[in-house]
Amino acid sequence: EFKSGGCGAGLVAAGAARVLYPASRAGERTRVPGSPEPSSFPLHYPGACGTEVDMDPQRSPLLEVKGNTELKRPRIKAPSRLPLSGSRLKRRPDQMEDGLEPEKKRTRGLGATTKITTSHPRVPSLTTVPQTQGQTTAQKVSKKTGPRCSTAIATGLKNQKPVPAVPVQKPGTSAVPPMAGGKKPSKRPAWDLKGQLCDLNAELKRCRERTQTLDQENQQLQDQLRDAQQQAKALGTERRTLEGHLAKVQAQAEQGQQELKNLRACVLELEERLSTQEGLVQELQKKQVELQEERRGLMSQLEEKERRLQTSEAALSSSRAEVASLWQGTAAQAALLAEREERLHGLEMERRRLHNQLQELKGNIRVFCRVRPVLPGEPTPPPGLLLFPSGPGGPSDPPTRLSLSRSDERRATLSGAPAPPTRHDFSFDRVFPPGSGQDEVFEEIAMLVQSALDGYPVCIFAYGQTGSGKTFTMEGGPGGDPQLEGLIPRALRHLFSVAQELSGQGWTYSFVASYVEIYNETVRDLLATGTRKGQGGECEIRRAGPGSEELTVTNARYVPVSCEKEVEALLHLAHQNRAVARTAQNERSSRSHSVFQLQISGQHSSRGLQCGASLSLVDLAGSERLDPGLALGPGERERLRETQAINSSLSTLGLVIMALSNKESHVPYRNSKLTYLLQNSLGGSAKMLMFVNISPLEENVSESLNSLRFASKVNQCVIGTAQANRK
Ligand code: ADP
Ligand code: MG
Repeated sequence: EFKSGGCGAGLVAAGAARVLYPASRAGERTRVPGSPEPSSFPLHYPGACGTEVDMDPQRSPLLEVKGNTELKRPRIKAPSRLPLSGSRLKRRPDQMEDGLEPEKKRTRGLGATTKITTSHPRVPSLTTVPQTQGQTTAQKVSKKTGPRCSTAIATGLKNQKPVPAVPVQKPGTSAVPPMAGGKKPSKRPAWDLKGQLCDLNAELKRCRERTQTLDQENQQLQDQLRDAQQQAKALGTERRTLEGHLAKVQAQAEQGQQELKNLRACVLELEERLSTQEGLVQELQKKQVELQEERRGLMSQLEEKERRLQTSEAALSSSRAEVASLWQGTAAQAALLAEREERLHGLEMERRRLHNQLQELKGNIRVFCRVRPVLPGEPTPPPGLLLFPSGPGGPSDPPTRLSLSRSDERRATLSGAPAPPTRHDFSFDRVFPPGSGQDEVFEEIAMLVQSALDGYPVCIFAYGQTGSGKTFTMEGGPGGDPQLEGLIPRALRHLFSVAQELSGQGWTYSFVASYVEIYNETVRDLLATGTRKGQGGECEIRRAGPGSEELTVTNARYVPVSCEKEVEALLHLAHQNRAVARTAQNERSSRSHSVFQLQISGQHSSRGLQCGASLSLVDLAGSERLDPGLALGPGERERLRETQAINSSLSTLGLVIMALSNKESHVPYRNSKLTYLLQNSLGGSAKMLMFVNISPLEENVSESLNSLRFASKVNQCVIGTAQANRK
């Protein structure tokens, strides 16, 4: 406003100020005629900032400059109130202070506002300066401020009417009194020079007063100018500050823009994420619905289960009560059971004793005779060749007798008719006619086999000529038919099952099997596998240890067995081994003794009982003799040697049995490998059973008779009391 509103006036004022106070130093200024002594009203010029304002008593109270740079406050344009009454201007500072209008007083206290109040127009005020002085001043201004200001001043001066020069009169010297009431005197006649002079003097006085007023006004304007300059300076400073602020604000705005950009990018990204999240939320909501459905289903299941649980709990509590009562019963029964167990053990021991007694009563050497059936393709024997007379109890009694009728063609009657057949009667512990099954046969020996578990050595032989059914009896028939199973598998199955039963009474049994063949007084392992299979590596019979009665076969396999399958596998292996040998050496199997042995050991740990025994099942070599009438070729000679060996071992067996029966001091066990191997199973505490196998054929009658005779001899033997090998 200062610049635009009064540029010319401002400059004029500045110029005027310079005219009035050419010296810039404080307190040094040109005195305007009529103005009060400067020394009596010292002026104080503010510093560069212009914030400090001197409270000069001479200064006009209308001019207030504040050092505040606040721009918001509207600047008040000084209204022109000219002419100012002289009385008002002339007032003393103290009077002025009191006479200030309330609103002006108020503006004094305002901070940064520069308020200029003047009652005089600026430019015209200069016109009141005497022309000469004004011109001088204008000239000085034009010199310092340039033509523009001087022009303005000149313009201002031009518009003024020239004021007639009036001699300067010192204040207070005027002789003309002021006109009372301001009445203008009427025009004096031309002759009234004195009156005119008086008027002129009065006029002069008014002019002087006016001059004084103008001086004061000038002074005020100069102050205003100075204040305005200070204000301009302050404003410039403020402007720079504001520019600085503006730059900062712009920088901040740019930064803000950048941030806005980033935020927009962020917003975009977030929107994208939001859409993804929304998709996820939808998916989750779908899942939630599904899960809620599932939950409902599970809840219903849970309820159902809880219902069931309650039912079960009720049942459980009743069951618990039942269990408690059962526990009591069980405890009582346990005591009873223990007592019964004790009794059972006693009974078991009694059973063993009685069983043994029974076996002894039956004889420690028993002989069973078995006649095989006529095989398909074989000639039917004549009726009456073999007869099985029933016992004293009639046909219901198991047969024990056998009659063989032999017609001797060499013996003829005198009339030339064939002699009647000679009948040979034999009696054995049991006779099995051709129709007897394997199970029937085994039934008879089952009790004997069980003796092995009780600790008695058991030895079962099959004696007879080749083809009489020894192998069939011992191992079984061909084809793996369970009905045709022989004594070995049946005996082992029986032992396993009885051992299982006895385990309930605290007995633990273990079984080890071996299977050897004695051919021509050499021992061969039938359980050999791998490279030794079928080769028949040399085996020797040795004592298990120094001072030990137990015998073992070196190089032979002793295989632990615990089930039928394992026994089956062993029999199959033995069969294979024999088959290989058979092809190498003609029908060797029938010329050799096969000895299957099972070592049984039982233990009753709680009672500290132990028992051990062996079960031997021997398939003897064919007992047939060589026909002495046959020519002895090289093959026959070999056959003869074999036969002699067989006969020797079989006769040794007979001799051993005889010696045992006759209680001879020397028992010739060592005379054959067979008796040597079986010495612990023959005599003494052992139980023996001999099957004499008989062929039903007429052509074999002679051999059958021989076998029956041998068996009869054995049957007549009574060998001491068998003793259990118990510790
Ligand atoms: P060994 O061993 O005494 O030489 P085998 O046991 O080999 O005689 O029997 C000779 C034949 O007779 C075999 O074919 C056998 O199957 C058959 N056999 C023997 N005993 C019977 C029997 N009790 N029932 C049916 N067949 C038998
Ligand atoms: Mg045989």
